[in-house]
Amino acid sequence: MPEGEKPANVYVSALEQLRGAVEKLKLDPGVARLLALPKRELTVHFPVRMDDGSLQIFTGHRVQHSVLRGPAKGGIRYHPDVTLDEVRALAMWMTWKCAVVNIPFGGGKGGVVCNPKVMSLGELERLTRRYTTEITPIIGPEQDIPAPDVYTNPQTMAWLMDTYSMHKGHTVRAVVTGKPVSIGGSEGRVEATGRGVVITGLEAAKRLGMDITRCTVAVQGFGNVGAVAAQLIEREGARVIAVSDSRGGICNPKGLSVSAVLAHKAKSGSVVGFPGSEPVSNEELLTLKCDILIPSALEEQITERNAARIHARLIVEGANGPTTPAADRILFDRGITVVPDILANSGGVTVSYFEWVQGIQEFFWTEEEVNERLKAILTRAYGQVHDMADKHRTDLRNGALMLAVSRVAEALRIRGVYP
Ligand code: NAD
Repeated sequence: MPEGEKPANVYVSALEQLRGAVEKLKLDPGVARLLALPKRELTVHFPVRMDDGSLQIFTGHRVQHSVLRGPAKGGIRYHPDVTLDEVRALAMWMTWKCAVVNIPFGGGKGGVVCNPKVMSLGELERLTRRYTTEITPIIGPEQDIPAPDVYTNPQTMAWLMDTYSMHKGHTVRAVVTGKPVSIGGSEGRVEATGRGVVITGLEAAKRLGMDITRCTVAVQGFGNVGAVAAQLIEREGARVIAVSDSRGGICNPKGLSVSAVLAHKAKSGSVVGFPGSEPVSNEELLTLKCDILIPSALEEQITERNAARIHARLIVEGANGPTTPAADRILFDRGITVVPDILANSGGVTVSYFEWVQGIQEFFWTEEEVNERLKAILTRAYGQVHDMADKHRTDLRNGALMLAVSRVAEALRIRGVYP
């Protein structure tokens, strides 16, 4: 954290996690300090003409935590609660995420403080195009490659690619990932994060001796990550008993039909009110009786307040940072396995890497090829994280962080310090 600033909780958590890995790896203090700081931060304030003719000024950030292993990579979030500290934490996690699956990227993240729920499509397009223009000096296929995050989607990425391409005078596909397939997106990208959650969750369940067809599952957050994870784990034979979104949750111990819940949400805008289900709050959902819990909404959901009451034997982190370090310790002591975010939700960035490769080569793969390569990368990464955790008698989060941090530190060691 830059000197003299008080960081937000999520950044404190990210730094605390890093400190744990750094101590176990016995890293040089100078290297540790470098890894704790973002390499580059850009904050922009910019105007957008609203539909009613007024001018509104928005604030956006783009943070590049590390470019030691390759261009910065990470999503862009549109949310009223976006802060620079949150973006810093998310950028740092992206560095570890790319390193843990061993793809040639560093970590970055962006965010705009806005409430997309009350903005029209035209306002969102103008906001995206202006924000893209403001951050254009530091993004590009070889510098920093944005992607979707909370409340941004393939359409947002299409506007971003188009705006960047207009400035360059030619189409630059590889400046962004998570764009629609029709303009160079990758098959399988939309489902990739949820698919990765299920691939790593199944690996963990297998090692814990859990039979997935006898497992019950609760999923917090029913967006791109949570809804896909719910669908795919149901397809593996598990019973999804609860899901939620920002308006609340629903529960049925006998099992919910995920496709029917999706149809209900598409019609009504929320999972709430799904016929045959009982309402549960987002807080209650986390402590329901179930075997597998998949938090897939926002940060800091599992804390020291509720960690002792969690029933699940296995937690697979679809969201970034859903568990605080204090909660992690409680869960570890209680023997609950946590597949950490930087491994569990790395399917998205892995297929983003595939999309970037396809964009540069102008040679596109089938969905089967994408899914097969994704499974191979995540299964290998899971094994490596598991071995690291075993060797150091620690949990999977520390194992994953140690693996990632050691890879980034090795890149620094071998490249050397300039000049
Ligand atoms: P999304 O916008 O598609 O979905 C978010 C979901 O969470 C929505 O259902 C929303 O209603 C719900 N939600 C919002 N606030 C909530 C609250 N307070 N309580 C419960 N639910 C709430 O976003 P997404 O892409 O699915 O991202 C979800 C999480 O996964 C984020 O932490 C994101 O950083 C992380 N993630 C996303 C990707 C990706 O490829 N999309 C990749 C890695 C990590």
